[in-house]
Amino acid sequence: MKMTKEDRFFKERERMVREQIIGRGIKDERLIEAMKKVPRHKFVEEALESQAYGDHPLPIGFSQTISQPYMVALMTEGLCLQGTERVLEIGTGSGYQTAILAELAEKVFTVERVKQLADRAERLLRELRYKNIVVMVNDGSAGLPQFAPFDRIIVTAAAPTIPQVLLEQLVDSGIVVIPKGDRFSQDLLIVEKRGGKIYTTSKGGCVFVPLIGKFGWKENEVWDL
Ligand code: SAH
Repeated sequence: MKMTKEDRFFKERERMVREQIIGRGIKDERLIEAMKKVPRHKFVEEALESQAYGDHPLPIGFSQTISQPYMVALMTEGLCLQGTERVLEIGTGSGYQTAILAELAEKVFTVERVKQLADRAERLLRELRYKNIVVMVNDGSAGLPQFAPFDRIIVTAAAPTIPQVLLEQLVDSGIVVIPKGDRFSQDLLIVEKRGGKIYTTSKGGCVFVPLIGKFGWKENEVWDL
């Protein structure tokens, strides 16, 4: 029997998970299942479909990128999701990370500053039948006070500092995952708030597009976009 395009992508996805995710030490079983399930190729334009399961980020327009599969996994694992959490994602982009979060948490609020990206992601996430996602267009560097507090916050763009407002919108025992550093290299930080204190660990180096906004980089500081 002839393999359909979806069969082929299914096989590519299995291989991606085996080699890039399990092979690099990701252990969270629910996360592994989510990454086997979510059709990453639908989150990129058709011309890039065949590269969707490669070990790298890909352009999604507007000078932005869909993160590398392993980076999505590493960040998500850092959130320690059990299924009951309200999660804030800052930087919807393609919506791929959003879908992974929606598989693993109770409710996901995602905010994107580029309206065209937010609209595209929202349409696709609806098509894929996710019912626990709210997409907002705004400067997410200030969080989403109208929906706070959150159990988890994930920032998928690089910040010069950890915005204090995000820590204020986090419950006690909550976790923020955020790439912090300069414009071209950052540390992936796991920030935990416990008893009003902040505990930070690093998961190593990473490279993200900039978080642009009030508590991120200013538009005029980002001259290379
Ligand atoms: N998780 C996404 C990553 C997209 S790249 C994916 O894998 O597809 C980061 C995104 O953050 C970009 O779409 C960019 O427009 C967005 N972004 C940057 N600054 C932002 C801000 N202040 N508020 C909301 N989104 C922002």
